[in-house]
Amino acid sequence: MTTPDQLKQYVRDVPDYPQKGIIFRDITPLLGDKNIFREVVDLMSRAWTQNPPDLVAAIEARGFIPGAAIAVKLGAGFVPIRKTGKLPWMTVMESYDLEYGTDQLEVHSDAVQPGQKVLIVDDVLATGGTASAAVRLMHKLGADVIGVQVLIELGYLDGRQKLRDVRLVSEITY
Ligand code: AMP
Repeated sequence: MTTPDQLKQYVRDVPDYPQKGIIFRDITPLLGDKNIFREVVDLMSRAWTQNPPDLVAAIEARGFIPGAAIAVKLGAGFVPIRKTGKLPWMTVMESYDLEYGTDQLEVHSDAVQPGQKVLIVDDVLATGGTASAAVRLMHKLGADVIGVQVLIELGYLDGRQKLRDVRLVSEITY
């Protein structure tokens, strides 16, 4: 069993990327190790095995990587939540604030049936803006959002307070 501190050794801290003052948490070393990747997928699935979702909805792009594996492990379907203009069919959109300006997330309007249980997955929770927009997007489709699972939580940005109404589980906290 790998501890959170041991897992951190597989996360590369890249200072000043993509802009000055940001420490980017690069998970590619973790993904590239077959044992650690498997263990991370197991860990990220653990909280949801008793009451599994019908669907895992993961956020472009790095959320797709653990998200798809978690969906298979939990016996759930997979829904991609994407940046605007990427999905080919009819979509529903949700906006969220960035430091400067706004950004949008989209999902196919028929991706979730009302009442289906949905687990939202991403790699990193920073300010919480992206994950909370994903929750609102799923609610627009009538989903029962059972929770948000991330690998890494940047506690110093307090994204958790934007997600007070949902169960939020993280494996590594900085
Ligand atoms: P936020 O909306 O601020 O919670 O940002 C979360 C989204 O941005 C996630 O999809 C992450 O992949 C990405 N992100 C934000 N900050 C970082 C960081 N320091 N390192 C890696 N990814 C990040």
